[in-house]
Amino acid sequence: MGVKFIGLEPCSSFGGEIPACPHGPMLLFERADGGRKAGRQFYACAACRDRKACAFFLWRDERLAPEKARQWRERVARATAAAPVADHRARFLRAEEILRLGGRYCVDCSQVLAGSEASLHSAHETRPVDPTLVRPSELLRPRSANSSEAQYLFSEATLAALLTLLNAAGARRVLCCGAPRLHERLQQQPGGPQSLMLDCDRRYEEFWPPEKLCVYNMFNHHMFCTHGWDVYREFVQRDGGEGLVVVIDPPFGGRLEALALTLQSITVTRDAAEGRPATSTLLPVFLILPYFNEPDVLRSLPALHMTDMRVEYENHHKYTSAAAGGRKHGSPVRLFTSLPAERVELPPPLYRRCPPCRRWVHVDNRHCPQCDRCTSKDGRPYQHCDLCERCVKITWRHCSGCGRCALPAHPCAAERPAALSRPRDSTTGQKRKRRK
Ligand code: SAH
Ligand code: ZN
Ligand code: ZN
Ligand code: ZN
Ligand code: ZN
Repeated sequence: MGVKFIGLEPCSSFGGEIPACPHGPMLLFERADGGRKAGRQFYACAACRDRKACAFFLWRDERLAPEKARQWRERVARATAAAPVADHRARFLRAEEILRLGGRYCVDCSQVLAGSEASLHSAHETRPVDPTLVRPSELLRPRSANSSEAQYLFSEATLAALLTLLNAAGARRVLCCGAPRLHERLQQQPGGPQSLMLDCDRRYEEFWPPEKLCVYNMFNHHMFCTHGWDVYREFVQRDGGEGLVVVIDPPFGGRLEALALTLQSITVTRDAAEGRPATSTLLPVFLILPYFNEPDVLRSLPALHMTDMRVEYENHHKYTSAAAGGRKHGSPVRLFTSLPAERVELPPPLYRRCPPCRRWVHVDNRHCPQCDRCTSKDGRPYQHCDLCERCVKITWRHCSGCGRCALPAHPCAAERPAALSRPRDSTTGQKRKRRK
C-alpha cells in the first residue's frame, strides 16, 4: 500500500491542534511507496478520498506561517458556514409541516416542496410523499457520483436478517452509522430497539429531527453540529450503556484504521456511563464490508470476525443476490461482528448451522474435513488440495511447475526462464503454510 495511516495527530503549524478541513479533524498519513517522498507525512481530509472533493492538504513538516494558518482556518469556517447545518431543526420543522398534508419532494434539489414552490421545480424530477409512510431513503436519489459517498441501500431480505440478528443480540439501542435505511426501519418498529442515525448526508435533516440524526463523519468521529454531542452521549449512555450496538456500513475503501479509532471512542463514551464498571471490551459491532477486506478488518479490529452472511443491496448490480441479477455466487459483501460466531444465527434455507465449526454458514459453503472448517470465503465452493494442504478455489488446479494451485491459464514458472521465475515463486509459492 502506498499510504500508511498514522492517526489523528497534532500539528505545530496549528499551535499543537489537529488541522481541520470542513469535514472535521484531518487524518495523518505517511507516504510508504518507496518513492522520493517515502516517509513524508501529510494531513488529508477524513471524508473525501478525492482531493477534488476536498482540497485541504498539508505536509506535516511544512511550516505554515501564522498568517497562512489564519487564512486556512478562515477558509474552513467559510466552507462550514455555507452548509445548512445551523438550522437542522428549522429544516425539519418546515418539512414536517409541509408533509403533514402530503407534499412533493424535488429529487434534483433534495428538498421538500411547499405547494407554492412546486411551479419553480416543474422542470425537475419530483416525487409525491405519502405523509403516513415517509421512507426518506426511497425518496432521495442515492449518491453515486463520488465514490467515497456512494450509497447502497439494503435489500428487504438483508434488512430483515439484520433486525433478527439485532434482536437476538439483545440490542435495545442501535447506532446506525452510515445505515439510513436500517434507521428508518427501526423507527417504524415502536416495540423494537431504538435508533440514532449518524451520517454525513445532510439531506436527511428534513426527515429526522436533531434527536434522531447527528450529521457526523465516521472517519474522524466528528460532529458537524455541536449539539450532536449531547444527543449522541445521552443515547450511548442511556441504561448505563447496556444494550447498545453499532451498525456501520461504511463507504467501501474507507480507512479501517480510522473506523477502529472511532469505535474505540464510542466504546469510551459508553463506558463513561454512570455506574458502569470499567472494562476495555469493544462494544458490540456489526460492520459491513466485502469478504476480500477480511485481512484489513482483522488487522485494525481484531475483536471482529467475518460471518458468512451475504449483505445485499437493492441498487447495486453486483452486490446483490444471484436471483436479482448479481454475481453467480451471490453478493461478496459480508457482515463482520464482535459477537460470538455461535450467536450469529443466520436464517434457513440459505444458511445452515455447521456443528464442527459451531457457526452458521451459507448452504454453499462446504465443511472441509482436512482443514476442519468451512473454507469458502467468496461464496464459491472450495476444494481441498493435499499438496498445498489447504482449500483452494474450485477453478484452480495444482501446478507442479509452480508448486502450488493456480488458475490453469496462469503464467507458469516452469515455462519461464529460471532467472525470472526464481525470486517470486520459490520463496512464496513453494511451501504455502497451512492456514487455520
Ligand atoms: N446500506 C446502508 C447505506 C450504506 S451507504 C443502508 O441501506 O442503510 C453508506 C452510507 O454512509 C451513506 O448513507 C452515506 O451517506 C454514509 N457516509 C459516507 N461517508 C461517510 C462519512 N465519512 N461519515 C458518515 N457517514 C458517511
Ligand atoms: Zn427542484
Ligand atoms: Zn464447518
Ligand atoms: Zn481444505
Ligand atoms: Zn495445490
